[in-house]
Amino acid sequence: MILAANWKMHLAPEEVRRFAEQFLAAVPPKAGRALVFFPSAVSLEAAAWAFAGRDDVQVGVQDVHWEPKGAFTGATSVPLAKAAGAAAALVGHSERRHVFGETDVDVRRKVRAVLDAGLTPFLCVGELLEQRDRDETAAVVTAQLRAACDGLTREDVGRLVVAYEPVWAIGTGRTATPEDAAAVHRVLHQALEALGGGGVPILYGGSVNPGNARDLVARPEVQGLLVGGASLQPETWQAVVTAADGVPQPG
Ligand code: PEP
Repeated sequence: MILAANWKMHLAPEEVRRFAEQFLAAVPPKAGRALVFFPSAVSLEAAAWAFAGRDDVQVGVQDVHWEPKGAFTGATSVPLAKAAGAAAALVGHSERRHVFGETDVDVRRKVRAVLDAGLTPFLCVGELLEQRDRDETAAVVTAQLRAACDGLTREDVGRLVVAYEPVWAIGTGRTATPEDAAAVHRVLHQALEALGGGGVPILYGGSVNPGNARDLVARPEVQGLLVGGASLQPETWQAVVTAADGVPQPG
């Protein structure tokens, strides 16, 4: 199981150090559970240092540019993120797609760049509310997945982590029911299988909290969680992790 925290535009380096100290003291490693933190690029190196020494914890970057270097003011390249300690990168988060206008082509280039540098892409897909209301969810997330994987080998696809994050559920307090999430995960698992990613973990994200985490990860189609708001305080994030830990894992 993968439990990932997306800290968005929060938590300065010193706050990250305090968070890590408190959280690590309270949450020991657990077999079969990986923790991943996505701090802002400014706090990436502080996070990498603060979590160093815990093999069950990785740090990732929230966004990357596909070029390894150059005149791209404000952007973070994959090599720069890697040098600061990132082992993973979020790609295609809905805020990147819908606030910053990122396209499927951008997402595909970023996935390629992340794989080429040996990091793990956490590819985010998800439908808008109006697409859900039109019953287009399966078509939308499958199209996003296929576009991101265009040109990848089957081996490349096998290195992805996918996050299903319905846009209407992110930061809104509205969560997909475990049944709804599981149904979309089944669609994505099938699409991944056809592309060579039969074993790729799929995380659910969208207003996860300590009260709903357990029922979501209890679904066999759900291999973990990607969490924003409820990961910003060590106590709340610990409560989410503890709730998810309560679910027996396969194998
Ligand atoms: C996210 O940012 O990926 C997310 C799921 O946010 P929240 O948990 O706040 O909905």
